[in-house]
Amino acid sequence: MKGSKKTIPFRKTAACPSSKTLLYFRTEKLSLEISTLVQYHLKSCEFCQAEVMLLAHHQRKQKHDLKTPELPMNLRILAESILCHGTG
Ligand SMILES: [Zn+2]
Repeated sequence: MKGSKKTIPFRKTAACPSSKTLLYFRTEKLSLEISTLVQYHLKSCEFCQAEVMLLAHHQRKQKHDLKTPELPMNLRILAESILCHGTG
């Protein structure tokens, strides 16, 4: 059943280089062979193309974690009760 590639899902596949590899590709830290492979992969993989562009976009703020800090449960209940009180 494998071998039919009519629709390529917009996500990473097993063949995709890792984000780190793509980042190194961007910053030209890869060896020539590997960067050639990545380049070749990018031609056929829209997801990785997009990811490289995203990496370029976010490169300056790599240090920041994109996930929002988790609110402790009791604070969340407090916040919700305040919010509910405000609207009610
Ligand atoms: Zn890919």
